[in-house]
Amino acid sequence: MFQDFISLAPAGIQALEPYQPGKPVEELERELGLQNIIKLASNENPLGASQAVMAGLINKMPELARYPDGSAYTLKSKLAEFLEVDADCLTIGNGSNDVLELMARVFLKPGNEAIVSQHAFVVYPLAAKAIGAELRVVPAKDYCQDLVATLAQVSANTRMIFIANPNNPTGTWVDNTALTQFMDHLRDDILVVLDEAYFEYVDQAGYPDGIELSKKYPNLIVTRTFSKAYGLASLRLGYAVSHPDIADLMNRIRQPFNVNAMSLVAAELALDDQDHVRRSVAMNKAEISRLMNACNALGLGYIPSAGNFLTVDFGKDAQPVYEALLRLGIIVRPIGVYQLPNHLRITIGLPDENVRLIEALKKVSG
Ligand SMILES: *Cc1c(COP(=O)(O)O)cnc(C)c1O
Repeated sequence: MFQDFISLAPAGIQALEPYQPGKPVEELERELGLQNIIKLASNENPLGASQAVMAGLINKMPELARYPDGSAYTLKSKLAEFLEVDADCLTIGNGSNDVLELMARVFLKPGNEAIVSQHAFVVYPLAAKAIGAELRVVPAKDYCQDLVATLAQVSANTRMIFIANPNNPTGTWVDNTALTQFMDHLRDDILVVLDEAYFEYVDQAGYPDGIELSKKYPNLIVTRTFSKAYGLASLRLGYAVSHPDIADLMNRIRQPFNVNAMSLVAAELALDDQDHVRRSVAMNKAEISRLMNACNALGLGYIPSAGNFLTVDFGKDAQPVYEALLRLGIIVRPIGVYQLPNHLRITIGLPDENVRLIEALKKVSG
């Protein structure tokens, strides 16, 4: 009986390793016999979703039996106004992950090359390799994407370049000068995907506004998400801003109802509650300082971060530290798969969660 199903898959898919999500909190509590575990592992908004979103979703319940608006008309109109772009530049996805995958499927084929940075977000290699495209990985500089080195890696086969700004799991970012020079020198038939999942958190001077740049460089595609500062990770809603022809192509291959009705209405309400975003960002700023100060006091290094997480350097294999924190009821993210085995990525939590984390770091980092 035929059983070698793996051999039937294209080589690019055979070579993939599935994304490793963290275990659910309830499962860990059971396994470890602990209560009140705090999860600082997935860069979610510790304040949760806005009250306005939660109230609005209940009103939407009577329509659960209906298909969603596959054109996302209302959300696109709102976003277009908010971002000051034309609605036909927008592609709405089931998380920005969905949009990243659509882009790869539209533009990559076996034989094409995609370029990513060392330590870059894993979804880019996943999306490119699943299609059978070749991947070039450019060494990072001080943990950051090196755009000069990236440019030097471009070949005749290069079709797409991914830039996470800021990057997960390093929190590093490229500035407006570096990005503009890069775009000025890049062949303009190469698509640049600028992933701005943490855009709302960044207040560093010189940070580029990708959407403004996408108006000047039509080969620049910006992706954003409601999963982080807007606190809607569970609902999966992200989008791309691009040249309308690029949006048109992605629209041709997406599932007709790729985004569900609850997510659409939640995103519309979340967009209207900018106070919630401001509160989330302000808390993150104060709390990331608290964690950096604690690391300084403990003699722990960290990568300066523009996001809602801090990647801490333990100067030795961090797996035992991760496990020790787990036994104290704190889940963080080991990032050995990102070639950072001595670091742990720690999401900035609520003030009392961060206090507990810092007490735990004191115990385990000695
Ligand atoms: C969290 C994250 C995203 C968001 O993904 P969604 O699918 O929108 O939840 C995208 N890019 C990076 C770098 C991220 O860290």
